[in-house]
Amino acid sequence: MKGLALGVDLGGTNARAAVVDRATGEIVASHKEPLRERGPEAVVATVLHALGQAAGAAGIAPASAGRVGVGVAGQVLGATGVVMNAPNLGWRDVAFGTLLEKALGVPVRVANDLSVAAWGEKRFGAARGIEDVVLVFVGSGVGSGLILGGRLHDGAQGVAGELGHIKVRLPRPGFTPRRCGCGQLGCLEAYTSGVNVAARVREEIAAGAATRVLELVEGDLARVTASVVEEAHALGDAYAVALWDEVAELLGLSVANLVTLLNPARLILGGGVLLGAPRLADLTLRRFDEAVSRSATRGLTVERAWLGDDAGVIGAAVLE
Ligand SMILES: [Zn+2]
Repeated sequence: MKGLALGVDLGGTNARAAVVDRATGEIVASHKEPLRERGPEAVVATVLHALGQAAGAAGIAPASAGRVGVGVAGQVLGATGVVMNAPNLGWRDVAFGTLLEKALGVPVRVANDLSVAAWGEKRFGAARGIEDVVLVFVGSGVGSGLILGGRLHDGAQGVAGELGHIKVRLPRPGFTPRRCGCGQLGCLEAYTSGVNVAARVREEIAAGAATRVLELVEGDLARVTASVVEEAHALGDAYAVALWDEVAELLGLSVANLVTLLNPARLILGGGVLLGAPRLADLTLRRFDEAVSRSATRGLTVERAWLGDDAGVIGAAVLE
């Protein structure tokens, strides 16, 4: 049907499909389905079902809205629809776009989840009407979406904007950096994402680190999250203070370098860790201010993401 578009947000645990009004970005209907199995065929079946449910709720057939856009939490090879690497799905080089296209019978456009989120914010959210935008998300993963000159910038292979996988630590004799979900060592994500921060705190407590995090989770290490570190930080816990100083320095410096390099008019910050841990966000912004080139901050505005969890599915639906 004219005026409506279908989008899918494919994360590591759920597939969410939505019917979106192309003119307003409003979600007309949506359906979220857990991924019981993560094999590509099983995920195609789950996505098809979610699309069918969402379209049905809006009173349209899934194939009637034209091309379907999908945002995937992983590295996507641009227009080919091949997901090179999606750690949460356990995928390497999966031709997901082709598989879904065959099953659905309409063209499918696959892109990185943060690229589609940036596009959603550009069309209907915190970056509306702005031509040069950098969106940075720090949640269970870390990444960025880049809009340059009004267009989504995805690079020669479609993997531009992978801020989570820039290196912030390199191996040297006697030191091995933390391993990232992408397989490489020393990535920003390995030091700053919610999942990796929690894993590190668990390891360090198990190795004898003294911190109030342990009381806050009542000795249950499975309950350690970035929010608990934030709580310990508020109590003045020395371990949490040192950890947040390190994480804020790495994030602040990395985002500042990205802004210095690309000169966006707007920087949008989002993701559960940055939005859910205000002390960390504050420290990060202070480090950002110290590190960013003065010339790149003229006319720069920093905003929180407006569309929240909806940015991906909306951006995917209206992707050009
Ligand atoms: Zn990595």
